[in-house]
Amino acid sequence: MNGDLAVWPPRYDPAYRPDPAADYWSPELECCDPRTRDVLILEKLRRQAGWAWERSPFYRRKWEAAGVSPATLRALDDLAKFPIVQKAELRASQAAAPPYGEYLCIEPGGVARIHGTSGTTGRPTVFGIGSEDWERIGEAHARILWGAGIRPDDRVLICSFFSLYMGSWGALRGVERLGATAFPFGAGVPGQTLMAVEWARELKPTAFYGTPSYALHFAETARREGIDPGTLGFRTLFFSGEPGAGIPATKRLIEETFRGRCVDMGSMAEMTPWMTNAECRHRTGMHLWQDLVFTQVCDPETFAPLPFGAEGTPVYTHLERTSQPMIRLVSGDLTRWTDEPCPCGRTYPRLPDGLYGRIDDMFIVRGENIYPSAIEDTLRAIDGFGGEFRVIVSRREAMDEFLIRAEHAASHADPGLQAKLRATMTERLRARLGVHPVVELVPEGTLPRTEFKARRVIDDRDLYRRSLQGVRR
Ligand SMILES: [Zn+2]
Repeated sequence: MNGDLAVWPPRYDPAYRPDPAADYWSPELECCDPRTRDVLILEKLRRQAGWAWERSPFYRRKWEAAGVSPATLRALDDLAKFPIVQKAELRASQAAAPPYGEYLCIEPGGVARIHGTSGTTGRPTVFGIGSEDWERIGEAHARILWGAGIRPDDRVLICSFFSLYMGSWGALRGVERLGATAFPFGAGVPGQTLMAVEWARELKPTAFYGTPSYALHFAETARREGIDPGTLGFRTLFFSGEPGAGIPATKRLIEETFRGRCVDMGSMAEMTPWMTNAECRHRTGMHLWQDLVFTQVCDPETFAPLPFGAEGTPVYTHLERTSQPMIRLVSGDLTRWTDEPCPCGRTYPRLPDGLYGRIDDMFIVRGENIYPSAIEDTLRAIDGFGGEFRVIVSRREAMDEFLIRAEHAASHADPGLQAKLRATMTERLRARLGVHPVVELVPEGTLPRTEFKARRVIDDRDLYRRSLQGVRR
């Protein structure tokens, strides 16, 4: 095990590295009786909460209003008495006290790195990270990448944006700390995917990081160059940013395409180290690495922690973050958790189906709750699917129209095969979703590919509603 856990924040030896044959980075923490680990988690949590209480007017105000303080934390269950934090509150705090908000718990001069969000859904959020936090983030990510099977002899191609996307930087830091070779290639420049394929052929990287959509785009680009992506030599492909790597059919497709392990990871940029939801190399669903970030799956309305087996939303709490600690940050993702054992021997709880949706991604068609991930899983399991799709929900009359525009593979150009394919897709989607869709087929390659997070649902019912209101006025 690496680190002096008697102190807080914990101190890690930057030179520590297990034997490459070892399965675990810190077996004493990863495989111990969860009750033993909970003692350590509670101690870290008290220190973390005390740190925030002393330094952050944001937390002090919230907690005083709720009648709690660090002294409330006599057992882990007491954490549920603390109010949750929503992302909108962080944005409001940063607007009121720019740039870091009233939850920066180090001196502004101690911020070593500024990162941020792109702000597509509102005011961008600023992350101010202290240098010691950055070192601990590296330590956590190295430990977790070790569990995914990455070793110092791996060469890791990082194919995601190196700008406002935290995922790339976190992956890079973990790979560096683990002692593997990092190739921070990036993404998003015109022609860059083709270049990535060429570099991959040249440099023979053994691991890949990006989003699942991008990996599939990368594979298509390789095939167009006459290169079988399975021959490029990727042993491990790890992902975050979208749910695909946890969607069974997408995972299978990535594994068959690249002939490597597809490992699902990721929580939120605010929660960096974000890999604390991460699969091990057995891929049984993401483990919650509880002694790094303490995660509880909670009721999406009351935010009370739920028993194992239940579905809810993750609520995250940092345990070793001094700069901008998050204590009970609500994710808005949907998941189910379990404490059933994993063959790896780690005793962390797991999310066996990954993060399969966002509460705000869910849309309702004719009374049924529908998640885009269920459509993706269904289509990718059908032979003849061409790789990309869009969902268009509209309302022309009283009834919702539910159109799924799906690509057919080049092998299905024949009208007879297409009719069969359309019937199969319609039937399987109806069985999975409980709603009858209209399936429209288009040739493979027609729909735009994404280099980042895919947005596949177009819901124009709001437009229709607004236009109706316009008419009334
Ligand atoms: Zn495991």
